[in-house]
Amino acid sequence: MAAASTPQSFLLQHPLYPSLKTLSYIPSKQHLRPRPRLSTVSCTAVHPAPASVSVTKDQGRIFNFAAGPATLPESVILKAQSELYNYHGSGMSIMEMSHRGKEFDAVIKNAESDLRRLLAVPDDYAVLFLQGGATTQFAAVPLNLCAPDDAADYIVTGSWGDKAFKEAQKFCKPNLIWSGKSDKYTKIPPFEGLEQNPNAKYLHICANETIHGVEFKNYPTPSNKDAILVADMSSNFCSKPVDVSKFGVIYAGAQKNVGPSGVTIVIVRKDLIGNAQPITPVMLDYKIHADSASLYNTPPCFTIYICGLVFADLLEQGGLVEVEKKNAKKAGILYDAIDGSDGFYVCPVEKSVRSLMNVPFTLEKTDLEKKFIEEAAKEGMIQLKGHRSVGGVRASIYNAMPLAGVEKLVAFMMDFQARHL
Ligand code: PMP
Repeated sequence: MAAASTPQSFLLQHPLYPSLKTLSYIPSKQHLRPRPRLSTVSCTAVHPAPASVSVTKDQGRIFNFAAGPATLPESVILKAQSELYNYHGSGMSIMEMSHRGKEFDAVIKNAESDLRRLLAVPDDYAVLFLQGGATTQFAAVPLNLCAPDDAADYIVTGSWGDKAFKEAQKFCKPNLIWSGKSDKYTKIPPFEGLEQNPNAKYLHICANETIHGVEFKNYPTPSNKDAILVADMSSNFCSKPVDVSKFGVIYAGAQKNVGPSGVTIVIVRKDLIGNAQPITPVMLDYKIHADSASLYNTPPCFTIYICGLVFADLLEQGGLVEVEKKNAKKAGILYDAIDGSDGFYVCPVEKSVRSLMNVPFTLEKTDLEKKFIEEAAKEGMIQLKGHRSVGGVRASIYNAMPLAGVEKLVAFMMDFQARHL
């Protein structure tokens, strides 16, 4: 090897890089740093983790019932891993490249076109990849759709809808036209009796309440013909087909069904764009982002890339009709297990509006809940604790939760019940 004074030999002897001793590399005149030839890196290398380390399917993966960030399709994780180190021969990872280069341009364009195919998004709708989470949309929606004195209607079926309503109070005059709070957010109102404000600019719903497990199965129509329906679909986005043309705006944080946290997808009818209140920050103005194809500033590139892989995977599964069938099957066996437990497990949500994504339940003997959650974790089923605001148990079973995960949970529930009668 090279003499002790060269940078390469320094690294080879450096105590912080013992694993590099196993690397072979060809010193290059152009590069003073050692450039490991990754195809020959041994699996014992700790640093860096090379593309050639083979992680086999199922190796150490557990069933993650978290509400979000949530489990992602295994095939997507493995594909991202295989492309991570050197993306499509570019010599760098997606995380390192310019958002204005040709590789990322293809990534974001493909993600958008696959999402358009999945949801059959009409041409007169823009698809935006934004930041700030769905929480930012609680403000962006009124800022883009209303003047400060305009009215907007909110149906509140859970904590997220409530947060959206409260944030809107800063930017317009929202009316709470129905709240499920007194029923502990276990219901959705019949649409006929709703007293909508005739001047409301929009009617806002949260299509699936992640904490309470309440999901709209169909959608109300704004009574004012010029008003539009706006939906927070964060926790059931791409879990089933949706007729986008019924909505003016759909928004969804990615981190439940379609990717890691960091991107919020907004699907907005184009004629609604361009009327933001003058105080609207550029980052919240739909026009700014629509005009620059979501590249006004640096987007969350890696997250968008993973979303693209998820969209391609959903298309490969046969699209959202097939995806919904799988989701209905998974939710069905879990609700059947709860309802068939003679009251040992209880789901408080009215049956007709139970979520296919988030299944909250309690144990009749509430003092057993902690033990239930702990024992499940020991069996490789984690994040089953209900949201801190409601307690109990919550199983989030998004698209990427395999049927096997739900079957394992149901088997565990039956076993646990048998042991605690
Ligand atoms: N809406 C719903 C339905 C949610 O579940 C969440 C997050 N759990 C939010 C909004 C807020 O999303 P974010 O954390 O991305 O701002």
